[in-house]
Amino acid sequence: MLLSFDDSQGSQVSEGLPQLDRRSMTATFFVMTVVLGKTGWMSRDDLRRLDAAGMSIAAHTWDHHRADGYTAADYPVQFDQPRQLLEHVLRKPVRHFAYPYGAWNTAEFAPLRTAGYATAFQLSDTAMDPQEPLHTLRRILVNSTWSGSDLLTQLKRQDEGRRLLADDGREVDDPAVALLHRDRLPRRCCRGRGTRPLLPPAGAEAAHVAARVAV
Ligand SMILES: [Zn+2]
Repeated sequence: MLLSFDDSQGSQVSEGLPQLDRRSMTATFFVMTVVLGKTGWMSRDDLRRLDAAGMSIAAHTWDHHRADGYTAADYPVQFDQPRQLLEHVLRKPVRHFAYPYGAWNTAEFAPLRTAGYATAFQLSDTAMDPQEPLHTLRRILVNSTWSGSDLLTQLKRQDEGRRLLADDGREVDDPAVALLHRDRLPRRCCRGRGTRPLLPPAGAEAAHVAARVAV
């Protein structure tokens, strides 16, 4: 099982890292590089601190634009340069990627491979691509109201190909993904470094779990 955190909020280091340390757990942090060093977000020293604590650092684009609308001009900005920056900070390879909002299409696979990403993670609402399972790995968003046993129940359901359970017991697609979709921002693409970042909607800060992933 993999535990992951997206989007580079500073609280993932100040609050999350001590909680992981206390439990001798490790996690993967998917970082969007546009916010590095800004107030409330991770710094480069935070990345080194996470790395020194045994955490994995991975890429989450430059500015969190959806990856399913990219053109050729976007790949260097969103795939190559973030990996290069993270590798420069960490002095080690960065080989893993997460799609903002979990959104992808098949045109992304070749540029991701060219950029050096061995894996790419989506969310749980779309099936893995049978030809590219390692670039469509699924994660579920962990609801903060779940207990430990709730989490195990949801993981088991996902593993069996069943839908997840909402708080009221109804069978649903990943409820947190539904929230993201309701707040989905317009599908538009970046045009270089003058573009304002499309940050995740409020409440999107969450841990993710990918169950039984063999990489
Ligand atoms: Zn994100």
